[in-house]
Amino acid sequence: MGHGNTMVGNFKNLIELRDHFSDEMVCIKHLEAVRWDDGAYCPYCGCKKVYRFKDGKTCKCAECRKRFNVKVGSIFEDTKISLQKWFMAVYFLTAHKKGISSIQLSRDIGVTQKTAWFMMHRLRVATNTQSFNQPLKNIVEADETYVGGKEKNKHFCKRVEGSQGRSTKSKVVVLGIIERGGNIRTKAVHEVSQNTIRNYVFDNVVFGTKIMTDEFRAYGGLADFYFHSTIDHSKGEYVVSGSIHTNTIEGFWSLMKRSIVGIFHHISRKHIDLYLNEFTYRYNTRKETSENRFNLMLSNCKGKLTYAQLIHP
Ligand SMILES: [Zn+2]
Repeated sequence: MGHGNTMVGNFKNLIELRDHFSDEMVCIKHLEAVRWDDGAYCPYCGCKKVYRFKDGKTCKCAECRKRFNVKVGSIFEDTKISLQKWFMAVYFLTAHKKGISSIQLSRDIGVTQKTAWFMMHRLRVATNTQSFNQPLKNIVEADETYVGGKEKNKHFCKRVEGSQGRSTKSKVVVLGIIERGGNIRTKAVHEVSQNTIRNYVFDNVVFGTKIMTDEFRAYGGLADFYFHSTIDHSKGEYVVSGSIHTNTIEGFWSLMKRSIVGIFHHISRKHIDLYLNEFTYRYNTRKETSENRFNLMLSNCKGKLTYAQLIHP
């Protein structure tokens, strides 16, 4: 991912992060180095001829004459919270295995809970990075899970009934595909039908890949394009002949659910995609250093999320 090597100053933990980002200007310079690694550009017209003011942070575009700084056009635009606090939040979100709740964040960095909640959602926008969009291959596992409601009942319902396109009024269904040793993709859907699953798999998995799923009927139809193996949990099967299992993705679901229960408590349907971004981001950067995960997220901070958008998407 590149950024880690070119950055000024290294940090391996929260103490070092705090020491390094000692004031606002250091943070601004760091954000510039990450966002503008190819040189400063105007966020309004894209022009790369930019004048700098003596204050060290304000720039002016030679083309459209507008003034800006590195935060304009990013999730940090118009924020009243210091970048020092934002950077800590980025660290908590990227380095903590289960993330951090807005209550905890509000206490840790001294902002109101409402502010912390809004910050976390903005940061989740930056975890939706295009760098994970390579098609999945080799051996993949596909599975779906249900967020909200009682787990025991859903499991029972799924296995026994096994019907397609069941009502999901009280809960959200999340589809996931994971490449063993590689990345995961997740997506919230309204129903689990053969069609939904096939389209999602087609969009994300190279034809001819080995796919492992459970025996749920909606995964039928994949065998025409993939090497499809199934495992029958209802018969007590968990691993068939070594490589045939869905343990990798089930491990991801289980961590995600423990985070939801222990930290987020409740995830509303309209915000589920933002949370999925966050869980996916942490998984897909699991082999990176804390610093790389931190910088990758900062480099992806382009975009905006207003409070109004968040409340009424
Ligand atoms: Zn311009």
